[in-house]
Amino acid sequence: LDDVARADIAILGAPFDSATTFRPGARFGPAGIREASLLIRSFNEALAIAPFQVVQVADAGDCACSPVDVKAAHDAIQQAAAKLTQGGTRVLGLGGDHSVTLPLLRAAAAAHGPLSVLQFDSHMDTSDLNFGSPLTHGTVFRRAVEDGLIDPSSSLQVGLRGSLYSDADATSSADLGFATIFARELDQLGIDGILARIGRHTRAPLYVTVDIDVLDPAFAPGTGTPESGGLSSRELLAILRGLRTLDLLPVAGDVVEVAPAYDPAGITQIAAANVAFELVSLMALAHRAERS
Ligand code: MN
Ligand code: MN
Repeated sequence: LDDVARADIAILGAPFDSATTFRPGARFGPAGIREASLLIRSFNEALAIAPFQVVQVADAGDCACSPVDVKAAHDAIQQAAAKLTQGGTRVLGLGGDHSVTLPLLRAAAAAHGPLSVLQFDSHMDTSDLNFGSPLTHGTVFRRAVEDGLIDPSSSLQVGLRGSLYSDADATSSADLGFATIFARELDQLGIDGILARIGRHTRAPLYVTVDIDVLDPAFAPGTGTPESGGLSSRELLAILRGLRTLDLLPVAGDVVEVAPAYDPAGITQIAAANVAFELVSLMALAHRAERS
């Protein structure tokens, strides 16, 4: 970003993982995703766009996040994202644990108003407290609802699964107003059925957040809280590309929870880099449509 002064789309690293509840290490996610992105070529065949030719895409570097103070780290992320958003730049955040989505949502909502959220995740992240703390990667979407950043009645969580602390946890997102698709529903629905539900339950302005643990650990072992029985990379990419046919293009988004220390073959980072490329391509399509 220093070289081009301004950008239509900016990649912003949020290397913070001190709000994680199990395996740490996602603070190295932005570096790992950037490294894996070296193989990504410039033309997106599936979406028929060369995003780096159509719009100015720049790497805005990493936020200076305190590793020991959640509030201070979130403030730094919010300020960095808001500075970009205020100039009309679409921000794609790279986490970091999922708590970094809260300050990214604050910056996006300040520019666009209450957001519709499409969340890919094996977890709901709508707990009230984790270990007594209100600011963790497991509470982020409850805080976002409380603060009016997102509209749960036009938000959808896809890929939910895994064991829970209690039966009440199974409906904690639905009780807040979110629509949900559990991973066990995916085979019956298929890609088209999932897209139909996305079309029904989300709207513009859309924020897309991808917790990489939505993928099965076979495709994404390098994450803090892996859960068996998830999506394949191919399914996730197909759903993201389908947003174009729904004419639901994100104003902002993020890819979070990539922890390279548990990713010895780099496959999680490859998946995350490709997801980021799809999101950049969708944002480029949105930007091009706005200008035409
Ligand atoms: Mn999450
Ligand atoms: Mn998760």
